[in-house]
Amino acid sequence: MASVIYPTTNFTATEQLCITHGEGIYVYDDTGKEYIEGLAGLWCTSLGYSNTEVVEAITEQLNRLPFQHTFGGKTHAPVMQLAEKLKAMVPVEDAYFFFGNSGSDANDSHYKMLRYYFNAIGKPQKRKIITRERGYHGVTVAAGSLTSLPANLAHFDAPLEALSILRADAPHYYTGRQGNETEAQFVERILQNLEDQILAEDPETIAAMIVEPITGASGVIVPPEGYYEGLQALLRKHDILIWADEVICGFGRTGADFGCTTMGIKPDLMTFAKQLSSAYFPISASVIPGWMYKAMVDQTNEVGVFGHGYTYSGHPAACAAALKTLEIYERDKIFDHAAEVGAYMQAQLREIFTDHPLVGEVRGKGLIAALELVSNKTTGATIAGGKGGAAAVKACQDAGLILRAVAGNALAFCPPLIITKAEVDEMLKRTKAGVDTAYEALKSEGLL
Ligand code: PMP
Repeated sequence: MASVIYPTTNFTATEQLCITHGEGIYVYDDTGKEYIEGLAGLWCTSLGYSNTEVVEAITEQLNRLPFQHTFGGKTHAPVMQLAEKLKAMVPVEDAYFFFGNSGSDANDSHYKMLRYYFNAIGKPQKRKIITRERGYHGVTVAAGSLTSLPANLAHFDAPLEALSILRADAPHYYTGRQGNETEAQFVERILQNLEDQILAEDPETIAAMIVEPITGASGVIVPPEGYYEGLQALLRKHDILIWADEVICGFGRTGADFGCTTMGIKPDLMTFAKQLSSAYFPISASVIPGWMYKAMVDQTNEVGVFGHGYTYSGHPAACAAALKTLEIYERDKIFDHAAEVGAYMQAQLREIFTDHPLVGEVRGKGLIAALELVSNKTTGATIAGGKGGAAAVKACQDAGLILRAVAGNALAFCPPLIITKAEVDEMLKRTKAGVDTAYEALKSEGLL
């Protein structure tokens, strides 16, 4: 245990797995047992656990210049190179980048950037942010309030009232449908709810809506056909910006460069972290379009210095890690690889688990997926207390596979992007063993 306060962990938990090293998509514990890292750590180790090129790029940068801040007139080559490299990649016109250290702080930065921007153009009333039920956007004060998962809100008295956050319906047909509603009717209903909400609040007071193109920590929700098309039309109609949280989806995860590409979203703002550096060094980026940057330079309502920044904004070693990671993505065509192996993983998951008695829904795109574990396959009834997810994670771990249960009973997959088809086969073999074991255990406990 040691004297560590562990994040996102029950204070009474005593069991821990101590990981000592990694190789490719595998990690090893202190007894030497091998595991496939089926969640790429926390959705982040895209290039796996032994990429010496990224390590060398970081080491070289640490030897040359281990630190230089970027406040008030200081800069360095790696941070400028990274911004230019990203500018050529992102679907945001003439993009500018604010760098940080985590997905949470990137979202906090955008939260503040939006306030600053609307103050700078003389529209201080345009300040509310729409988020969605079941969204996950981090845990810092603003990002944690944009998150909608109960454990991240309830015991922290979040959201702070002053943050002005609105919550829209989660776009999950399987768990959110009413009666015999079709997918199209579901989409129409939740978008109508949102429009009612926007009109009740007054669109002039709403700055932006934050969305994960495909959600991660809330259960890998892939919104239905037509949802994003309708959502974007609605937000454009009411002059509300679209802010894509690409912290999980960004950089190949969904089988394309960005989740926005996969889901047909044209974002105004984006946030990145995790796969930006394949987790070899912490770094995040908050992306804005050129027109927004220009408006903050011009300041029709003069607000002065942008008083926001982290000591490690644009840390040189983090930028070196990101630059090398992006170079490898491009050189080794990692996104194409993820598209091909991802399509294979999706097909195999459906083939193996669609008829499994414990599985209500198989969902995902590219190399991100989830199995919704249910107590009744016909009704889709959930398993109380997230016990299905917990049982499956434990049984998979015993079988040599690390996965995570999210939103209770969704067993999530998000392997390193370098995974091969043969390794997918091995991962799903271990998954099958784990899910079968969990099914028997849950049955004997009377939970099914
Ligand atoms: N946004 C999304 C979509 C995430 O999945 C996460 C983390 N899982 C975050 C933000 C927060 O990132 P971090 O943990 O690096 O603060």
